[in-house]
Amino acid sequence: MRKTDKEWREQLTPDQYRIAREKGTERAFTGEYWDCHEKGVYRCVCCGAELFRSEHKFDSGSGWPSFWQPAEPANLATAEDGSHFMRRTEALCSRCGAHLGHVFPDGPAPTGLRFCINSASLKLEKKD
Ligand code: FE
Repeated sequence: MRKTDKEWREQLTPDQYRIAREKGTERAFTGEYWDCHEKGVYRCVCCGAELFRSEHKFDSGSGWPSFWQPAEPANLATAEDGSHFMRRTEALCSRCGAHLGHVFPDGPAPTGLRFCINSASLKLEKKD
């Protein structure tokens, strides 16, 4: 899915645009979902792709929504990120290229992964 910057700006809030389209980061403990315990599916705020599920969410203490696996591995892309003098793995939506957050190798079993994701890149679809 490709849209122009103008189209993304019209669709998204300024915070969503800065984070999802410009690789920004929300401040810890400020996002909508870091402390959310509702059941449902977390979709890409830009294109609606299914990215994460509540049953894979855990409390990492980081202040960002954290998951130990993606909903559909094919919907998640990764890239090496050397910004801010750190070597990190960036997590992106594979359908629209939205910046989601980063992946770290210090998560819980069974994957050992921690997908540290900005609330602003997500939209929770609540399900019972
Ligand atoms: Fe997307």
